[in-house]
Amino acid sequence: MLKERTNTLALEQPLSLLSRIQWIQSFLVLGLHACGLLGLWFAPRAVDLALFFGLYLATTFAIGIGYHRLLAHRGFVAPQWLRRLLAWVGAAALQGGPARWTRIHRRHHQLTDKQGDPHSPLKGFFHAHMGWIMCVDAEEGSDYRELVPDVSGQDPWVRVLDRGVLFTLPWFLTGIFCYAVAGWRGVLWGTVLRTLALWHFTWCINSVCHVWGTRPNQTRDESRNVWWLGLLTLGEGWHNNHHARPAAAMHGWRWYQVDFSGYVIRLLARLGIISNVVRPPRVN
Ligand SMILES: [Zn+2]
Ligand SMILES: [Zn+2]
Repeated sequence: MLKERTNTLALEQPLSLLSRIQWIQSFLVLGLHACGLLGLWFAPRAVDLALFFGLYLATTFAIGIGYHRLLAHRGFVAPQWLRRLLAWVGAAALQGGPARWTRIHRRHHQLTDKQGDPHSPLKGFFHAHMGWIMCVDAEEGSDYRELVPDVSGQDPWVRVLDRGVLFTLPWFLTGIFCYAVAGWRGVLWGTVLRTLALWHFTWCINSVCHVWGTRPNQTRDESRNVWWLGLLTLGEGWHNNHHARPAAAMHGWRWYQVDFSGYVIRLLARLGIISNVVRPPRVN
């Protein structure tokens, strides 16, 4: 009887592990890394580097300014055309649709480094960095658009990005663009390797920025400021500041905390394109 029960448990465990795998995302993550290895053989030409850096800047700004500061935290108010533009260019970073991204990120802020945080390093550095993406989300199967109705509202141009795998459409369009400009090597550098670079730097915010770095604000979590990630992610590396005041549209609070996304937001506000910008606290 006991032996029978042990066998049943042994069968159950691998099955439950399999059922916890998010297959579509695991396939994308592992497949893209495999494709990225081609970069070892095909060195970039000038045009490939231009595509890499151009699209890296566009998608990193769209994730930081659009997905994160506008949609997830409502750090400012933007006209419809700009919300759509940021949502579509953000989706080209291949990090899921805006409603799903927002819902998971808001849960991170609600339960930071506690039970229920989707990507806390308390479950291990690898889990926080990329392991969590390959696992089924706690709310998988829900219509994320209904869970965060403020993100896409009734706008079909934003809603479509959270329908099935349609969030991949803008990313495929960048692939077609790179192919038209520079052929397959352009796709390799401008789409595959550019996406991998942004993935890992974004993931470092969840892993590195909750393990190493400075904590000028005494938040009730493990968030840290990491200056070099601040540069690479155009401002997201000031993560301890961000956890201290999540709605603030600027993550760099001091003159030396370089926050390119914050500078763009200031410029857009000055030009009158956006309004109701949530300012950071005054610091000495
Ligand atoms: Zn965090
Ligand atoms: Zn946030």
